[in-house]
Order: sequence, then C-alpha cells, then structure tokens
Amino acid sequence: MPDYQAPLRDLRFVMDEMLDYPAHYARLPGGEEASPDVVAAILEEGARFAREVLLPLNQSGDREGCLLEGGEVKAPKGFKEAYAQYVEGGWPSLAADPAHGGQGLPPSLAMVLNEMVCATNLAWGMYPGLSHGAADALRHHGTEEQQATYLTRLVEGTWTGTMCLTEPHCGTDLGLIKTRAVPNDEGSYAVTGTKIFISAGEHDLAENIVHLVLAKLPDAPEGSRGISLFVVPKFLPDAEGNPGERNGVVCGSLEHKMGIHGNATCVMNFDAAKGYLVGAPNKGLACMFTMMNAARIGVGIQGLGLTEASFQNALAYARDRLQMRALGGPKSPEKAADPIIVHPDVRRMLLTQKAFAEGGRMLVLYTAQMIDSVEHGTDADEKARAETLLGLLTPIVKAFLTEVGFEATNEGVQVFGGHGFIQEWGMEQLVRDARITRLYEGTTGIQALDLLGRKVLMSQGESLKVFTREIHKFCQAEEGNGELAEFVRPLAKLNQEWGEMTMAIGMKAMSDREEVGAASVDYLMYSGYVTLAYLFARAAKQARMALSEGTFDAAFYRAKLDTARFFYQRLLPRTRAHKAALEAGAESLMAIGAEDFGLGFEI
Ligand SMILES: Cc1cc2nc3c(=O)[nH]c(=O)nc-3n(C[C@H](O)[C@H](O)[C@H](O)COP(=O)(O)OP(=O)(O)OC[C@H]3O[C@@H](n4cnc5c(N)ncnc54)[C@H](O)[C@@H]3O)c2cc1C
Repeated sequence: MPDYQAPLRDLRFVMDEMLDYPAHYARLPGGEEASPDVVAAILEEGARFAREVLLPLNQSGDREGCLLEGGEVKAPKGFKEAYAQYVEGGWPSLAADPAHGGQGLPPSLAMVLNEMVCATNLAWGMYPGLSHGAADALRHHGTEEQQATYLTRLVEGTWTGTMCLTEPHCGTDLGLIKTRAVPNDEGSYAVTGTKIFISAGEHDLAENIVHLVLAKLPDAPEGSRGISLFVVPKFLPDAEGNPGERNGVVCGSLEHKMGIHGNATCVMNFDAAKGYLVGAPNKGLACMFTMMNAARIGVGIQGLGLTEASFQNALAYARDRLQMRALGGPKSPEKAADPIIVHPDVRRMLLTQKAFAEGGRMLVLYTAQMIDSVEHGTDADEKARAETLLGLLTPIVKAFLTEVGFEATNEGVQVFGGHGFIQEWGMEQLVRDARITRLYEGTTGIQALDLLGRKVLMSQGESLKVFTREIHKFCQAEEGNGELAEFVRPLAKLNQEWGEMTMAIGMKAMSDREEVGAASVDYLMYSGYVTLAYLFARAAKQARMALSEGTFDAAFYRAKLDTARFFYQRLLPRTRAHKAALEAGAESLMAIGAEDFGLGFEI
C-alpha cells in the first residue's frame, strides 16, 4: 500500500520562513487565534487524520466504488465512519465564520489541510470538498433564513453540499441549460430537469444533501444572462430545521468512470423538486462563480496533493529497487545492483515530481494569503490588490497545477517500471484520479481563456502588471546579490518577456479574435512556469540566508537550492517551446477545414 507523510517540514519552510505567515495571520482580524503553536497543532492532527484514517481507505475505495440501490447510494466501506470522525473533529467548520458556527480560522489553513486530504484520498475528499463551495455561495448570496437553515448545517458538516451545473448537452456552455424553475404559490419554486456528473450528488455520509442548482425561470432571457441559482435540499427541513419530507430529487444512475471511484458521480433527476431562489433572479451564474472560484483553487490543490503522494512513493521505491549499475561505477558494490535512484533519468523524473510538488505548494500558499486578505483583510488597498492577484492566479493554480500534477503522477508510474502499471502499488490509481482534475471545474482550455481573455486582456494587461511589478521589484532588490544571480537574471528577463509577449498577443487579437484562443493554453503554461520561477527564486533566497547564518538543518536548505536549480535548468526552458508555439499564431490551427480533418480515412 502506498504511504504518505504530510510534508510538515516543507510547509513550515514556506509558511514561516518564506511567506511569513505568522505576521500575515497577526494582521488579520481574529488572526491571533492562528498562533504558530495552534497552526502547528492543527497541521499535525490533520496529518495524522490523513495518514491514519483516509489513506487506508484509498485503494479499497477505488476497488469497491459506490453502489446505487433503490435511489440510495452507498459509499465504499469505511467512508461514512471516516466522515463521522471528520465532523466530530470539527474539521468542516475550521475556517467558517463564527456567526454560522465556524471556528473563524483563516481560509489558508483549511487549504493546507486540503492538500493532505487530496494526497491520501481524493475520492473521499470530494464529499466534504463541495460543501465548502456551497457554503460560500450561501454565505455571499443566501438570505438570513437560508443561512440559518442550510449554511449552519454545512459548516457543522452534518449536511453536505453539491454543485449542480452540468446537463447532458452542456458543461462549458451553461447558457444552454434546460432545467426549469417555476414559481409555486408560497415563494418556493418547482425545479425540473436532469443534471449529470454531479459529484457527491447522493451518498450515505451525511443526513441531508444541499444541492445548489442552476435553472431558468419561465420568463428568463436567453443564454447565460437568464440563469438563476436555487437551493434544493434532498430532505426538506421541518419546523425545527431537521431533515423532514423527501424532496423530488433522486439519483437516477451512477457514472462508471476512469478514476475517483470512491466518489459518487451522479445523474440527478429533479422532478418538480422544491427549491428556493438564491440571490437575484437571472443572476445565478455570478452567484455560482463565488462557488466556482473557491472550487477551482481546490482542484489545483488536488493536483498538488496527488503530485506529492506520487513523489513520496516513487522516491521510496527508487531508493529500494536495485537495477543495473550507475554509469560512473557501482554505488552499492556490496549489493547485486545499485538502487535505481543513481540513474540520471530516474533522478530527472523524481526531481520533476519534487519541483512540481514544492513549487505547487509555494503557489498555493502564496495564493492562499490573497484569499485570507480578500475574505478578512481590513486595508482597502491591500484587499483590492489581493483581489486582482487572486483573479489572475486562480486559473493558473487550477490548470497549471493539474496539468503538471498529471505529468508528475505519470512519472511516478514510470519510476516503478512495470510495477507502476500494476494496481497493487497504487501508482496507477494516482494517474487515473489525477486525470479528472484537468477537466472538471472548467477544463484547462477554459481556464486558459479565462486567464488570457478575461483576466489579462480585458483589464488591458493591468492585472498582469500588478504581478510583474512585484516580480520586478524582487529582481531589482536582488540585482547585486551574486549568490542569487543564477535565478534572478533569467527571472528578470522572463518577467519582461511575459509583459511584451502579452502586448503582442493583444495587438494581434485586435484584428483576429481567434489569436486569443490559439495562444491561450501555451500562454497559461508559460505563465505557470514563470510564476513558479519567481517563487523558487524567493525560496532560494531564503535557503541561502539560512545557510549563511548557519543552521542545524543545512541539508534541507541545500536540497531546496538544488531543487530550485533543477527547476530553472530543466523545467523553466519549457517556456521557450510555449512561446514559440503561441507566437506561431492561429493560422496553422484554423487553415484546415473541419470537413478535411478526416481525409486520411474512409467513412
Ligand atoms: C467525475 C466528474 C465529476 C464532475 N462533477 C461535477 C459536479 O459536481 N457538478 C457539475 O455541475 N459538473 C460536474 N462535472 C462536469 C464537468 O465540470 C464538465 O464535464 C466540464 O466542465 C466540461 O464540460 P463537458 O464535459 O460538457 O465538455 P464540453 O463543454 O462539451 O467541452 C468539450 C471540449 O471542448 C472544449 N471547449 C468547449 N468550449 C470551448 C471554447 N469556447 N473554447 C475552447 N475550448 C472549448 C473543452 O475545453 C473540452 O475540451 C463533473 C465531471 C466529471 C467527469
């Protein structure tokens, strides 16, 4: 069975040394609750829960899957008990507002714990995972009564939430949805339609399920301007707010899928189910975006967690597995062969995983500070800046970390050789589980359009400038630091190139809108590599400082520098290929007629 140790040392490095979380928390109202001792205790307990409770259920949950019987779904063995422990431990309420029964700790702390959950059991993590987004939508857009009825139960964890957007004929283009909501006499709505691919749509972990559903009112305008949001509970709350009468929403079937087998992916049939409008009529998509933004960061964290899990197990295997001799002569002459970690190509794979895990962790924790500031900050300028940066970074966190997460888990299989392909070791499950992260909550293609089209070009490049100015300031401050030159010089160049390249795409797009779509995924990947380069340069600075001041943990800081160097020398050059591809423009993509794609075969 795969093992996992939460990367507590690396978390301490990023949180305490690099990003000064203690000072960040001290600045937030109520942040004094998140003292270093409290944070350390929470992380250790989270690490224990992930390793001891969730990890042992990961492979069994994958093999067993979910069972639908008479409209009821049974999650795999042990999932329900693990969820009960999770609720009893107060985990769902950690970062929620005390006004709704939460503990009021900063959202960033919940994100750190989420990495551990995703690393040990992604399928299980998807049950409470969607509640967080549903709670966010109700917190921002729900009435007081809706908050008292539903939000408090979601925060407690006794009820879970879902996000019901997708329909058989539309996932990306939600303007096409057909689900209808017709007003009833007493202020509720009768919601009718079919939603597909609904994660945790039906299960036996919680006593009630709160569906947040996109539907159209009878007089709604066409397209995405005519979508409204409704809260539709599985059991209608009784006078005391407890689960009462069964509502008209049932799970019609479960999808058979490539990964996350332990999570129920449901077809949900709504048959005049009683629902209540959340937010203003026809403004549902905007409300849902509240949910989707949080969920998108959450999916990026899934990519990170799976990367770390795959890396840790590949590393253990590479130290143990004996095959062939090192090219430079035997490293373990007393053994029949050397451990495969001596081979440069195996090291390339392990370091790729390690760099994406450590780089991804820095990116998530850097972004998490923006979330804390947006949610709880008191300084208006700082909040506005955080909001801009968060908007820019969200599609990068979601798409870049899931793209490289898929690459990293695939490399994990490769390190194991043929054994990686065999179920027993658990490495192939990580690849299968990682595959969905590039798709749901908006595919990589859609995130890339969001980044380049909406966030960067629609702001005339302003949002990007907020970030590139920060990188520029760092490079200027470190210009004379010879020890960092290997990082700062290439970073400064790339940072300038990023801005120039963006302007050039913007110019092209003025005469041909297809140029945006043609450039977008390469642009997103380029942006991800430069963002990680900035964070690795900051990590290298911190490591250099620790080493020059003298530390008992010199090996950790030297390894951090080596990883940063590997990233700069072996992964950052991928920006060259992305730049060349996006500069080639739309022509070669659009030249061939849709009907000419298949001329090589007879139909
Ligand atoms: C396991 C699983 C769990 C899920 N959980 C949920 C859930 O809980 N709730 C929910 O509502 N949905 C859920 N989904 C649905 C998921 O979010 C959608 O599948 C996803 O958003 C893509 O939509 P689609 O499948 O309809 O693909 P389509 O929208 O048909 O897209 C097909 C392809 O076309 C591309 N494409 C489409 N439009 C454009 C464009 N304008 N420019 C460039 N490329 C474009 C896409 O990137 C994609 O590659 C889940 C799906 C799965 C498989």
